[in-house]
Amino acid sequence: MAVGVLALQGSFNEHIAALRRLGVKGVEIRKPEQLDSVTSLIIPGGESTTMAKLAEYHNLFPALREFVKMGKPVWGTCAGLIFLADKAIGQKTGGQELVGGLDCTVHRNFFGGQIQSFEAEISVPNIAATEGGPPSFRAVFIRAPAILEVGPEVEVLADLPVPSDKTVDSSFALESQEESSGSEKKVIVAVKQNNLLGTAFHPELTADTRWHSYFLKMVNGVGEGSSNSILTAGEDLSLYQLPKIDLPIFQ
Ligand code: GLN
Repeated sequence: MAVGVLALQGSFNEHIAALRRLGVKGVEIRKPEQLDSVTSLIIPGGESTTMAKLAEYHNLFPALREFVKMGKPVWGTCAGLIFLADKAIGQKTGGQELVGGLDCTVHRNFFGGQIQSFEAEISVPNIAATEGGPPSFRAVFIRAPAILEVGPEVEVLADLPVPSDKTVDSSFALESQEESSGSEKKVIVAVKQNNLLGTAFHPELTADTRWHSYFLKMVNGVGEGSSNSILTAGEDLSLYQLPKIDLPIFQ
């Protein structure tokens, strides 16, 4: 199995390294015809305006839209999530072309500029249920987008509380449903809609490969509870008991 990784700009090498850790080959995709050689695609994080300009230059948008429409698994991380969204706000003047397909609205730089980048432990019950390991995931948010609204077909895989005193545009955030959270608001940071997966953070920058193995299950069409060549629940928990290592983690 080979997974295509859009390699115009951003963290495509890190995705390829994460796939390699799971014994899967990542293939760099730069031209429309190269999409014919893969059955799934990762669109990495980076800078979505720049990536869109490069994609336009290489005439990739029609082929990317076709790829999504054909129901092939596509995972967008960060800028890649922006690419997959049907609607983005907070774009540069004139906007930018999107691939679309994911029924949601993203705010391009929800948390602020580069300096407001952060790491957070997020709760990932669905990922833990299929991939094993702890119920939380240490997520790296780099000038990250957030998902403000999702359509009825979209499954929310993770959200993040946004304290109301945080200097972000929290007026967009949804009111938290949890009573204990007081004045906290929350935004959605990971979603799945049929063949599409979107994460506002960068799993390729951490040693925890569960989002990659989750995506590979989508690629294999393997349902919950089935086993495949990828690590399954309870198989090797020691992988998740590694000491916490600060960035960069390229193991
Ligand atoms: N917010 C950035 C953008 O608009 C994405 C940042 C990222 O991919 N780390 O492109």
